[in-house]
Amino acid sequence: MLQSLFTDHLTADPETENTPRAVLEADFSFCSPVNPSSPKLLSYSKEVAQLLNIDSGNGLTHSWQEILSGSVLAKGSKPFAMRYAGHQFGNWAGQLGDGRAINLGNKVINNQSFELQLKGAGPTPYSRAGDGFAVLRSSIREYLCSEAMHHLGVPTTRALSLMTTGDWVTRDMFYDGHPQKEAGAIVCRVAPSFIRFGNFQIHAAYQEIEQLKKLANFTINNYFPHLITKDINKDTYLQWLDEVCHSTADMIVHWQRVGFVHGVMNTDNMSIHGLTIDYGPYGFLDNFDPNWTPNTTDAEGKRYRYANQPFVAHWNLVKLAEAIYPLIEAAKPLEDILNKFPAYYEPQWQRMMANKLGLGQVFADDNTLFKDLEKLLSLVETDMTIFYRQLANYDGQLNSIPSLLKDAYYDDKHLEQKYLSARNQWFLAYTARLERNPLSFEEKKALMDSVNPKYLLRNYLSQQAIDKAEKNDYTEINKLLEIMRNPYSEQPEYQDYYQKRPEWARHKAGCSMLSCSS
Ligand code: AMP
Ligand code: MG
Repeated sequence: MLQSLFTDHLTADPETENTPRAVLEADFSFCSPVNPSSPKLLSYSKEVAQLLNIDSGNGLTHSWQEILSGSVLAKGSKPFAMRYAGHQFGNWAGQLGDGRAINLGNKVINNQSFELQLKGAGPTPYSRAGDGFAVLRSSIREYLCSEAMHHLGVPTTRALSLMTTGDWVTRDMFYDGHPQKEAGAIVCRVAPSFIRFGNFQIHAAYQEIEQLKKLANFTINNYFPHLITKDINKDTYLQWLDEVCHSTADMIVHWQRVGFVHGVMNTDNMSIHGLTIDYGPYGFLDNFDPNWTPNTTDAEGKRYRYANQPFVAHWNLVKLAEAIYPLIEAAKPLEDILNKFPAYYEPQWQRMMANKLGLGQVFADDNTLFKDLEKLLSLVETDMTIFYRQLANYDGQLNSIPSLLKDAYYDDKHLEQKYLSARNQWFLAYTARLERNPLSFEEKKALMDSVNPKYLLRNYLSQQAIDKAEKNDYTEINKLLEIMRNPYSEQPEYQDYYQKRPEWARHKAGCSMLSCSS
């Protein structure tokens, strides 16, 4: 049984025709999933099924499979697509909305509400020139990464299921005039809500102040009730913005910790809950390159590169603040909150870096050690994940470094004298710093191994699962799901997956280059 929290409380589009169009003064449009011709469940997350209380103990029931493919509506479901706008690559893009996602409604478990959303279940009034469908390769990527990120401890939307529809979808993967037919697929995403910065932006842009207030009050009432004292007033909106700034900053710190690059940090892809949302051309850093972005659409400006993510998050929060300005009608208190972002982010980032280095406390002069390490890691191609994981075994003996780090380098020829002396210098500073560390070797290693993953959903691993799935072999999807459940555990049986990106994957489509097309 599903409930309709969002549609019962917010403004519906009075028009019910499912054609692409501009929608005014509404939060959503009712629209139904397309009936797929021969749906098939490829994989599901047992943790999410348990969270929703729908795991029969024997997999997902047939009736849930019908719901998750869009074939049958759950009892109580009034499916809808959300209306939102956004800034894309820094430019105002106007109305966007759920063009290929249909929300089924929410399920309440132990007073906690979860929205269920089918991505790729057919067109909506917000589909613009798109078809509303999703292809298998991008659905595998979204499905696996949502769960991998959760297990890494990164705030994220979840994925319940991955299904194929049995229908074909045409895509021009590289926008180069070579469209191909690909298998259609649907991922069921799960989150407290899918409300984005852009849901507020669209009301502000069209001066729908009454709807803006209604949506903000709905959001606070349902998801930030601890901020309400007597009623919802200007102070409540400010505290709410403050909390969104914090949760967004916390999320970015986690991204930087594991080397995640979102790739499309548009304001329509920013969750009001500080969750990672909309897995498109994302990627994890293999060799530590702060200027890397996986998104070929962003190859020129590199707006969404790794090192820029905290600045973009801040920029996006400014756009959210501008959107809710009409509720507060004073710029100064909004600016004060926004200006605190760097002062909040920076110590969180330093604490995270200290954890990665196994330091029990952060000292005032540690920042130099952290920044110097980032410089060192980008001097020669060094695998970020392997470097940190191996570093946990460092016991202060400088002569152990070459063997400890040998698997972290992409090309031994790069290890010239200039680099080796820079490395030596950094390790001398780190070794001296470890002498002031209150943690024992074992405690230090345990701390490091709890924040530096051994296993990561590297792009090439997803691509291998995709290549197999396109030949109807889905085993690798489930294997990756299994490995990524315990990214911090040794799992010696999966040692082969603790490996830097192989050379063949360096320039292969899907492994290092991805476009927005999915
Ligand atoms: P995204 O890149 O996923 O953040 O999508 C940006 C916007 O384009 C959103 O409004 C999406 O709903 C829309 N969109 C992306 N792909 C499609 C598609 N295949 N059909 C319809 N709309 C789409
Ligand atoms: Mg999006």
